[in-house]
Amino acid sequence: MEMPTPNQNVLSRKSQIVERLQSVLPIGAVIHTESEVRAYECDALTAYKCPPLCAVLPASTEEVAAVLKLCHEMGVPVVPRGSGTSLAGGALPTADCVILGVARLNGVLETNYEDRYIRVQSGRTNLSVTGAVEEMDFFYAPDPSSQLACAIAGNVAMNSGGAHCLKYGVTTNNLMGVKMVLMDGTITEIGGENLDAAGLDLLGLICGSEGQLGVVTEATLRILRKPEGARPVLMAFNDNEVAGACVADIIKAGVLPVAIEFMDRLCIETTENYAKAGYPDCNALLIVEVEGAPEEIDEQLALIKDIARKHDPVELREAQDEEEAARIWLGRKSAFGAIGQISDYMCLDGTIPVSSLPMVLRRIGELSDEFGLKVGNVFHAGDGNMHPLICYDANKPGDLELCEAMGAEILKLCVDAGGCLTGEHGVGIEKRDLMTHQYAQQDLDIQMAVKDVFDPEWLLNPAKVFPLDSSASRRMAAE
Ligand SMILES: Cc1cc2nc3c(=O)[nH]c(=O)nc-3n(C[C@H](O)[C@H](O)[C@H](O)COP(=O)(O)OP(=O)(O)OC[C@H]3O[C@@H](n4cnc5c(N)ncnc54)[C@H](O)[C@@H]3O)c2cc1C
Repeated sequence: MEMPTPNQNVLSRKSQIVERLQSVLPIGAVIHTESEVRAYECDALTAYKCPPLCAVLPASTEEVAAVLKLCHEMGVPVVPRGSGTSLAGGALPTADCVILGVARLNGVLETNYEDRYIRVQSGRTNLSVTGAVEEMDFFYAPDPSSQLACAIAGNVAMNSGGAHCLKYGVTTNNLMGVKMVLMDGTITEIGGENLDAAGLDLLGLICGSEGQLGVVTEATLRILRKPEGARPVLMAFNDNEVAGACVADIIKAGVLPVAIEFMDRLCIETTENYAKAGYPDCNALLIVEVEGAPEEIDEQLALIKDIARKHDPVELREAQDEEEAARIWLGRKSAFGAIGQISDYMCLDGTIPVSSLPMVLRRIGELSDEFGLKVGNVFHAGDGNMHPLICYDANKPGDLELCEAMGAEILKLCVDAGGCLTGEHGVGIEKRDLMTHQYAQQDLDIQMAVKDVFDPEWLLNPAKVFPLDSSASRRMAAE
């Protein structure tokens, strides 16, 4: 993966930059020794690593503004970082950058149950947002599988989704407002406590902008009443394509489950060895969950099981109690960790129309044979959000490159099937060079013109999202 040559002028001023950052932040908030900055050398796309110039951990919006103002003045690139769980390399440093981590911005600022919102600092973890309101029977809907660790900052930047987003939508559908600091240090507020703010939909622009436009320090999030109950049903099939066709039929029938999750044989066997969830011996498995009052759940599950029976399932197992429901979800929730136990892997993320699931799954199988690399499929099938996990050997020369080439073919397949490159993990560096498969140069120019408005010197997270040759002149103008 190509990254721009670090700016020598910035590198040579390291001690001066560190000193000036120390002058605007409390003691201990600037991390600069070689051994300490290693903690920030990569995110969850661990194939690529580069220690930053230094890292800063501000604890307030004003401290974030002071850091950005100073870096702007000194011409130093800044890479914002939440919890570093990005699978697209969105928080990967460059050698000449300051990592701005928001982990210390983790407070709850306001909860309003009447108007159904919570205002939090952006470093707060996703799961702890629900933790702050569950006593009152409320929850925050977007639930990335990384929710124990990932921060609202990263969720907003990547427009993250999760297993239950089929019904509730992704981050953009649950975000009401942000406080954000621009690269020159200006503090700005967009949106607020009302669902639809006046004027241009700038909030829609910020959500999913991958740390390209500003540093989000606070977020106002929609919270919802917990449903009366929820129940999953596990469906086992002999064939990936048949399971894919079953998903398409459920969606077509107009019933709206909260989640439809898919796992193929490699994932089923591996998670079974790891988490012992009691999954059946089959080639493809769906977990379909519905929620509501008990009668509502019965009615929806009856319809869903009728559809599944037409696809000749190996087993249909409806959870009879909470313990069984937890066991059905256990394997799915352990899948990423389980695959990580058997192999290095790259987790892809692309979206396709649900109706093309059978064709795309078949073609991924063919590509796996052609490239000679195993692929495990585990994903949010109801949204058409694919997560092929390509297994490779990081110690075998050439294997990473082979894996990248195969990943590129799969992501292009998603685009060609009428879908898109970005499911929920964003573009980062992982999909940066594939953007030209989805967009014409004119489209990219318009997207980059938006960045010009917010960050004219291209100092915020500059080597991400846009192909390097498309953005070269803009980045050079900044030097
Ligand atoms: C095991 C595992 C499972 C996952 N499952 C899911 C899933 O189900 N759904 C899903 O959507 N994702 C998933 N992810 C990916 C990842 O968790 C999400 O992209 C998450 O939103 C990243 O949050 P983070 O706080 O770790 O952000 P980081 O990785 O720190 O950063 C991500 C991006 O956000 C930018 N950013 C960070 N902070 C700010 C800020 N304050 N202002 C502006 N930009 C900022 C960064 O520059 C970077 O571009 C998973 C990851 C792992 C490792």
